[in-house]
Amino acid sequence: MRQHRLVLFVACVAMGIVFGSWFFTKNYIQHYGMPYRLKYDMALKNITAQDRIVPLAIIGSGCAGLAAAVYGARLHIPTVVFEGKKPGGQLTTTTWVENWPAFEKILGTDIILRLKHQALSFGARMVPDTIIAIDTKTWPFVLTMDDGSQLYALSMIIATGANPRKLEVPGEDTLWGKGVTTCAICDAPFYKDGTVVVVGGGDSAIEEALQLAPYAKHIIILVRGQSMRASAAMQDHLSEYAHIEVWFNTRIKEIKGKDHVSSIIIEKNNHEEELEINAVFLAIGHVPNTQLIKDQLTCDSNGYIILDQHTQETSRQGIFAAGDVADHRYRQAGVAAGDGIKAALDAAQFLREHGFNEDVVGKLKSQLYDPATLALKVPLQKIGSVEDFESLVKNNAEKIVVLDFYTDYCPSCLQMMPVVEAAAAGLLDKAVFAKVNALEAVDLTKKYAVPTVPMLLVFKDGALVGRNKDTLTRAQLQAFIHEFIG
Ligand code: NDP
Repeated sequence: MRQHRLVLFVACVAMGIVFGSWFFTKNYIQHYGMPYRLKYDMALKNITAQDRIVPLAIIGSGCAGLAAAVYGARLHIPTVVFEGKKPGGQLTTTTWVENWPAFEKILGTDIILRLKHQALSFGARMVPDTIIAIDTKTWPFVLTMDDGSQLYALSMIIATGANPRKLEVPGEDTLWGKGVTTCAICDAPFYKDGTVVVVGGGDSAIEEALQLAPYAKHIIILVRGQSMRASAAMQDHLSEYAHIEVWFNTRIKEIKGKDHVSSIIIEKNNHEEELEINAVFLAIGHVPNTQLIKDQLTCDSNGYIILDQHTQETSRQGIFAAGDVADHRYRQAGVAAGDGIKAALDAAQFLREHGFNEDVVGKLKSQLYDPATLALKVPLQKIGSVEDFESLVKNNAEKIVVLDFYTDYCPSCLQMMPVVEAAAAGLLDKAVFAKVNALEAVDLTKKYAVPTVPMLLVFKDGALVGRNKDTLTRAQLQAFIHEFIG
């Protein structure tokens, strides 16, 4: 009996030590960063036979990635930015930014265009593609692009940002793009004189409501708690609009509709009711985009990459992170750009410490990855009516016809257009692409029931055979069209 008790006691102590050590290490890393770095054999002599080398690979082209590219390229490090599915990131889905240093007011898209132009002017290369896998077990790090080709990065900055959070309620997925959306600036014109709800209590929710204000006749902001998290300055704007209401203590339980949102079930002050509405605009924050590396880099319990104290270095030597993917606290464009700058300086120091300099660049010249061929794009012809469409089909009888519906004010459409142009360049003999302004070509938009932009419609022999409302990469888009080519 005594022996049993002793064994039990020893087992409890051992478990306590194991659990205590795990708990301490987890909290230590979360608060103080990594206590050590995983090292590889990073001798440059190991890469003499390697081709498709990228000295500085930047994954993501929001303000963090582009600011990093400005610094990396200006330091004469051959720098390649992989723009991803949503080139420009979250800033391109906002309108006026009033707190970007040195500008009293500037459009989010302008910040991105200026940063991109600046990075290109120093020699950074932009690739309109997505990295689908990263292997950090060996050095150079192996990057796989969505067309399956591989590249070898000497240093890397993860600037993949964050994606809009979803409500996870019944009806949300099936009605996504059919009245459930996260982009008022894209879809507000489709809800002229409609009743819409915006979900969320932060600055984004107010911004969405302000975007909708010139179009919808009634806008209800649904806040789950008793107060809004948005800044006082943003909340002040709401008082200028009599048709915007804020309902507190209200949650959506279900989104209903057949082909399009028609109503929602809400729980308001512990009471359920059905509300007839035309659209649900979600603005409930973001989740970090760390799927690519979450098993290889140390992340916190919410999925954000953990950085070494005061630097942008991750738990892997030579890999840095910048912007919302590693920042759950500030989430500001200016901070993300600052992080990008720090990450580029950290990457430059890392490369220098491993013997990388302009002589080495000269020696590696023929082995460096050259993305020039991917830059090929075919500008899309614009059509404006059903009649135009019919003659396009007639003149291209042997080809698949692809229509890209957009509006001038839709940032995701601007993001998508270069990807569509790049896909069109690779399908010249099989498909013909055209763009359609959804607000101008009203007859076409109505005939094919386009409720959201961007939207791609695919036609074979004049008949509609496919629809896509998701943002796709060049390779994914080409694969999607190939399904109809047969
Ligand atoms: P925030 O994280 O600030 O706000 C998210 C909101 O969504 C909160 O009110 C939260 O509620 C609510 N929410 C979260 N999950 C749910 C759910 N499941 N159901 C209902 N409500 C939910 O995100 P934002 O995107 O608004 O802002 C992010 C950052 O960007 C902030 O720092 C913001 O200041 C900045 N920003 C600045 C702008 C500007 O200056 N013009 C414009 C837009 C954003 P709760 O409060 O109860 O947690």
